[in-house]
Amino acid sequence: MRYDVIVIGAGMVGTPTAWHLQKNNSKVLMLDRKLPGLETSYGNAGLIQREAIHTHPFPRQITEVFRVLPNQGTDIRYRVPAILRYHQALLQYWKYSSPASVKKIESEWQTLIAHCTSEHQTMIEASGADELITRDGWLQLHRSKETLKAAADTAEVDRAQGVEHKVLSLEELKALEPNANFDGFVGAIHWLNSWQVSNPSFLVKAYAKNFEQMGGSILESNVTEIQPDNSNEAQGWKVVTDTDTYYSDNLVIAAGPWSNELIKPLGYTLPLFPMRGYHQHFKLHEKNTIHHSMFDMDKGFVMGPMQQGIRITTGAEMTTMNAPKNFGQLKTVLKLARKILPLEDAVESEAWAGSRPCMPDMKPVIGPADKHDKLWFAFGHSHQGFTLGPITGRLVEELIHNKPLTVDVAPFNAQRFTKK
Ligand SMILES: Cc1cc2nc3c(=O)[nH]c(=O)nc-3n(C[C@H](O)[C@H](O)[C@H](O)COP(=O)(O)OP(=O)(O)OC[C@H]3O[C@@H](n4cnc5c(N)ncnc54)[C@H](O)[C@@H]3O)c2cc1C
Repeated sequence: MRYDVIVIGAGMVGTPTAWHLQKNNSKVLMLDRKLPGLETSYGNAGLIQREAIHTHPFPRQITEVFRVLPNQGTDIRYRVPAILRYHQALLQYWKYSSPASVKKIESEWQTLIAHCTSEHQTMIEASGADELITRDGWLQLHRSKETLKAAADTAEVDRAQGVEHKVLSLEELKALEPNANFDGFVGAIHWLNSWQVSNPSFLVKAYAKNFEQMGGSILESNVTEIQPDNSNEAQGWKVVTDTDTYYSDNLVIAAGPWSNELIKPLGYTLPLFPMRGYHQHFKLHEKNTIHHSMFDMDKGFVMGPMQQGIRITTGAEMTTMNAPKNFGQLKTVLKLARKILPLEDAVESEAWAGSRPCMPDMKPVIGPADKHDKLWFAFGHSHQGFTLGPITGRLVEELIHNKPLTVDVAPFNAQRFTKK
């Protein structure tokens, strides 16, 4: 069977892409080797981050570099084989992290973030997924007056970008989350117009179900090869999987951290690299119930109320995709988390691990491939892919259907990494 569009990847980026295309009268097949929402889009902290108008630059201050080097931090760790494997991308990341460069990148990034909640809202309504969403923000906890003051000053400036916040004293924080022990903290920023999802995977599944209700097709199959298909006049794409071969006019690559594996054989070498994170759930009871996700700003981990229990999510570990799990960072985080909340019974015997798909200039790749017609890229959303999936999907639909664009996609094109 021939489709108008095949989307490879059924995460929070691929699923909204397939949804928008199907809604706008394309016949779409979404292919994934797993059911929708079971990889990176399963294990994240579940925040739809309207406040995330700043990117995550490479540490450039010498004090920061010395802090990270001993590799004992809770926010970031690294493994030497990954540094060697991705050294070119990391060098570019360092280069793009200069203050002048970050300023430009953030102004482009913000054009996407501005649409995150409104684009999710459209899909939440259509999918009947409202019970998964809490619209009461999240809490950024601070352990020092200096970092709280700096964050409050920045947040004040960010109001102009539509980001709403309230600075909370320790007393106000305790009143909001009476079960938590805030010894060692001085206060928090309450990000008011960001949203929390109680089961990130279920939100992807709800969007995928709605896509199917509109007539879209989902197949669980591992894609082994993609090839231009010149067998008929229209020209398009041939997608080979473990079990069958599928044909389409257009092809979208939305395979998150695996995207490069699919496009390398076609001659694309984009500097995509993974940043791993871990999570584990702990059983809920009346003494550890919390109402908001809480991010320990100085230690770099999140404690979030999920359907499965309290989800403890780590910061970043720079490692290769298939490296065995290393629980050192999570263990240290759990010691800190247990001082804040009683966390006795783990829900899973082993923690989950997954990789943020990162680009060195901290922006996703959204747009046409430069060497082939009707090939489209939608990946590399790093720390905010769960937030940005729906606006990305809208943009890819507008591009494929040749419509006016909601956001200028020029800053996100794949050609920005091509040597001139
Ligand atoms: C610990 C952690 C916390 C995070 N917290 C947040 C947060 O709070 N808010 C936020 O916005 N973002 C967060 N993120 C980032 C976010 O989760 C990712 O950016 C996002 O999920 C990426 O979505 P994706 O669809 O690109 O990738 P994925 O969800 O990984 O989807 C890609 C899909 O492609 C499929 N695939 C790959 N190769 C093939 C193939 N050959 N054949 C068939 N299928 C294939 C995979 O099976 C997978 O389902 C976090 C990430 C981590 C790791």
